[in-house]
Formats: sequence, structure tokens, C-alpha cells
Amino acid sequence: MTQSNFPKAIVFDLDYTFWPCWCDAHISTPIRVQGKEIIDAKKFRVKLYPDVVPILEYLKERNVKIYTASRTGTPRIAQKMLKLFELDSYIDGSEWGYNSKVEHINRLVTRHNKDLDEEDKEYLKYEDMCLFDDEYRNSDVERLGVTFCHLVDEKLTWVDFRKGIQGWCSGVRAD
Ligand SMILES: [Mg+2]
Repeated sequence: MTQSNFPKAIVFDLDYTFWPCWCDAHISTPIRVQGKEIIDAKKFRVKLYPDVVPILEYLKERNVKIYTASRTGTPRIAQKMLKLFELDSYIDGSEWGYNSKVEHINRLVTRHNKDLDEEDKEYLKYEDMCLFDDEYRNSDVERLGVTFCHLVDEKLTWVDFRKGIQGWCSGVRAD
């Protein structure tokens, strides 16, 4: 895959995309880090899925914007987990809340394009984006023109990542 075959921005879900739990149902605060794991107040341990950091590195090297969008009821815990897993430096912005990811992505795009005009090469359109997510209900973002990449195994892996990017590429070529 060459750089021109990449979306400009990729949005990732968090729960069951980056890590195997729901922040609002499974995690009890306070949380702390031990080695590569997060341990919560009840000694519940969480690790990132192994392909997450390599995929984020890969995207950063290619100057792809990285966003997250999560419907968690406890954004502060999710934010803390991103920080403890040292993912902050990869992420260009995040959106939260119970509402649809259509709204999350709308807000991300509005923020990104603030002060840019449509002629600017940094200007972001919905068609330039993918959402990787384990929950099929979030495929409603396709009505914006965003490519939805369904993580059927409820985790981000290289196999599904490549499949998602290829899906985006074939959509772009079809237009
Ligand atoms: Mg999820």
C-alpha cells in the first residue's frame, strides 16, 4: 500500500477495538499501570490488543490523522487508559458520548477543518476517512460517506486493518 492509497484520517473505536473490555462496565477506579497492563481497583487486568501500537506507528509514519470515537459512559476512564497505555502521542483528537458516531465524526471533521478552506490540501472530507469499530450499529457513518470497517473478531488486527484500507481504496476508485 502506498501513501496515496491511504485515507487522510482514521477513526478508531476504543472498547473491543483497542482493548478487551468496556470501560464503563468492567473497570473500577482507581486504575494504575503495571508493565504493559492496566490494573483496576478490583485487580481486573487489561492489555492492549497486540497489533494496536504497531498499526498506530504505521499510520503516524504515513502522516495519517488518528482519531478516536467512543460511546462509553465513562470517558474519563477511557482517557486515563489512553494515557496509561501511552497512546496520547498518536492520537490527534477524540470524541465521546452516547450519541451516534455520525455526530462524533461530524465534530471531528468540523474541528479539523476549522480555519481551512476547501482548497487546502489538509481539508478533510468524509470520503477521506475510515471508522474501525467492532459494533455494526456504528456503520450508520456510511451515510456521511465515511468507510465503515467492521472488526468482526472484536479487536483491531493487521488482517482486518488491511481489509478495511482495501475496502476504502476500492470505494474511492469506484467513485
Ligand atoms: Mg467497541
